[in-house]
Amino acid sequence: MKEKIYNVMPIFIQNLTCTLKGSIEKNRRLGGNFPKYYQQLLKSQFLSEQEINDFQVNKLKNVLIYCNENIPYYQKIFKKLNFIPEDVTSIKDLEKLPILTKEDVRNNYEELINPNFNDKVLHSHTSGSTGKSLKFLFSEDAVQYRWALWFRHKHRFGIEPNDAYATFTGLAAIPLNQKRPPYWRENYAMKQTIFTMHHINRDTVPYIVERLNKGGFKYYSGYPSILYNLAVIIDDLGLEMKRPPKVIFTGAEALLDYQREKISNVFNCLVTDQYGFSEGCGNASRCEHDLFHEDFEYGILECHKPIANSDGTYTGDVLATGFTNLAMPFIRYQVGDTATWIDKKCECGRESKAIIQVNGRNEDYVITPEGNKILRFDYIFKDTDSVFESQIVQKKLGEIVIRIVKRNNYTDKDEKNITHLVHSKISPNLKVFYEYVSEIEREATGKFRAVKSYIK
Ligand SMILES: [Zn+2]
Repeated sequence: MKEKIYNVMPIFIQNLTCTLKGSIEKNRRLGGNFPKYYQQLLKSQFLSEQEINDFQVNKLKNVLIYCNENIPYYQKIFKKLNFIPEDVTSIKDLEKLPILTKEDVRNNYEELINPNFNDKVLHSHTSGSTGKSLKFLFSEDAVQYRWALWFRHKHRFGIEPNDAYATFTGLAAIPLNQKRPPYWRENYAMKQTIFTMHHINRDTVPYIVERLNKGGFKYYSGYPSILYNLAVIIDDLGLEMKRPPKVIFTGAEALLDYQREKISNVFNCLVTDQYGFSEGCGNASRCEHDLFHEDFEYGILECHKPIANSDGTYTGDVLATGFTNLAMPFIRYQVGDTATWIDKKCECGRESKAIIQVNGRNEDYVITPEGNKILRFDYIFKDTDSVFESQIVQKKLGEIVIRIVKRNNYTDKDEKNITHLVHSKISPNLKVFYEYVSEIEREATGKFRAVKSYIK
């Protein structure tokens, strides 16, 4: 209903609506304790390894004591295990506690809520790759802390909280049936110009580039799949980016290598991202040297059941214990991702734990006949410029369907080549089928899924 009314409003009223919403949102993000947290975080990122450890042990102890006093779910668990939070002296003590799965959160939702919490609370949820969403509560203060953290990441690349930016989103800020420019909306409160994926195509992009070239945008932020599509079209049409942003931050989906390369080339700037999840109990942000550093002030990211790799790195499930969201604290929460950690002194000088790669963000995977789980296929398409977009779908064990949006130069040879790469790099026994489509539909949230599995 709201959307229907919005869609028939004149554009300047739509801009005003975006601005009003933006003004409320800005206050929610950058109000309250945001300035204080932001300043603290800018300094604390350079603490020494020992100081970081002391900080985390102290925070962990306090959070566990707090949970023991306030959260029925943890009171029960601690009592059963005879666990005394006051005795915590090391991060390793976490291992005495059980893992919190998504199913545990669903089944114990009421008991995980802090009944004594007076601060204002927001209802949030994740979308989840299987369509099964997860509800949880988030305190307003925790929202501000998280934005301070996210702006600390941006600060590493020369961006400040009030800088003008362009957002590329899957949300429907522009009526779908609009056929004339402007293909964007303005949120003056946040100096944000909003572009949506539904209006990025060969007809609209020349106008979009004109708007981007008018400039004033210090940075862009958005889904990598949308920015990638835009970059491909700009390149195809031979349009020129006259005033590139300083930096592009991607989010919501994993940033694939080929996307990063293309976006970086076309917009002539650095592309970076961070590792986070809506549950807000852990985060890691890339530094200037491209490593993800654990945002240790925000929570602990444990590497569960680590497997040592030959290059000295180690890979395991991500478990997150948050420090800031006291409305519904998550302890040892199984995010559903795996990541690869590295013991290395980073040249940037930060000494918090470092992650080189996040191997899946609640993403689907393909199971090969040999039983391997394959999360990423992007390197199969890395050297071909004849595929606009692709998606791997698995409905049956032993076979996959590759859905492809062709570009004009796509030939039978490309198909043979892709099959060959799948057989040589992924599995010689995996049957490969093709489906050629004009577009690949997005999830309800606008997210693009590179791999979709119907095998559960
Ligand atoms: Zn670093």
